[in-house]
This record gives sequence, structure tokens and C-alpha cells, in this order.
Amino acid sequence: MEHLIRIEHIGIAVKDLSAAEALYTKLLGEAPYKREEVESEGVITSFFKAGLNKIELLESTRPDGPIAKAIEKRGEGIHHIAFEVADIRAEMSRLKAEGFTLLNEEPKRGADNKLVCFLHPKSAGGVLLELCQEIR
Ligand code: ZN
Repeated sequence: MEHLIRIEHIGIAVKDLSAAEALYTKLLGEAPYKREEVESEGVITSFFKAGLNKIELLESTRPDGPIAKAIEKRGEGIHHIAFEVADIRAEMSRLKAEGFTLLNEEPKRGADNKLVCFLHPKSAGGVLLELCQEIR
């Protein structure tokens, strides 16, 4: 069984969503297909298709949100890498048993119709990783 099926998207933290959307529209030659706010995370997202993968732009909706904090620490840029999984609960317990630290113990509702779980970068070589499963 394949565990992490593919890179579903790369999340990029931005200060100005409209400016970043204009940049990525130029880069990819196509406008974003969706803008979506995830209120619980204090973030507004914008999604682009790039072949089989996606780019997720993230702008903070509040000064103390996780994206605002990440930009404060490291500036704008790559924020996380998201892997598609077929069974998020199974992968969460497998990775926990492998020594990864889960940032949420239950899958939570993310943007773009997904259940998501994040792995702490300290347990993942300095990279914030996301598992995501399409909600059917
Ligand atoms: Zn993401």
C-alpha cells in the first residue's frame, strides 16, 4: 500500500494575497480556481492548478494567526508541503508510531474540501508537513 500518494499541494505564506495571486497567475498562465477562508485557522487561501499538483497561497486574516507568525519568523515563502493520503486516520497513527509529532490528534477540516493533519517540523527535518484526504 502506498502511504503518501503524491504531493497534493505546496503552501506558500504571503502578506498580500491579491498581489501574490497576480504573480502566480502570470507564472502559471491561469487564474486561481478558488479562494476560500478557513476561519478556524485565521487564513484565507487561494488555489492554483499546476499540472497534477496545486499551489496554495495563504494570507493571515489576523495578526496572531499561524501564517502571520510564520511570516514574522521566516518571511514570506514556502510554508508547508501537503501529501495526499487515502486514509488519514491510518496514516496519522502510522506516523505517530514512527515518531512524528502530530499537531492535531483528530483530522480537521481544511480548505479545498479536505481533512487535514499537520506534522510538527521539529519531528520532520524542519519542514511543516500536511496530510490531506479528499472529503467525498
Ligand atoms: Zn495546505
